[in-house]
Amino acid sequence: MELLNFNRVCNHTHVSPEVDFAYCPDCGELIENQWYLVRCACCGVKLRGMVRNGEIVPEKHFCHNCGTREYVVERINKINFVDISYAVLIKSVVQNEDIDITQSWVDFKTPNYRPKLIGQL
Ligand SMILES: [Zn+2]
Ligand SMILES: [Zn+2]
Repeated sequence: MELLNFNRVCNHTHVSPEVDFAYCPDCGELIENQWYLVRCACCGVKLRGMVRNGEIVPEKHFCHNCGTREYVVERINKINFVDISYAVLIKSVVQNEDIDITQSWVDFKTPNYRPKLIGQL
């Protein structure tokens, strides 16, 4: 998940979970707050998630609704108050190059951009 260049491990505890991106005041890395939600693979009910050995897993080993042990992990873009007690927050270090690529991709390949151009011609 994280590529650490130093032996000293920073948990970026001072990065606020309320923002999408922030520079960590402790290590200076750009941190992306990534939220994940664990759901039952059978009935889709939300399960309280946690991180164990670097993996996102449900807190309980089975679904409290239907008893299934299968689960799916879903990335969510925006956390809301309803989900916050279930969701798992991963503070992931962003490499600067990745951000540049993502931004130019979004600028030029936005789905709404092309139809507009065609309409003008
Ligand atoms: Zn840090
Ligand atoms: Zn279930």
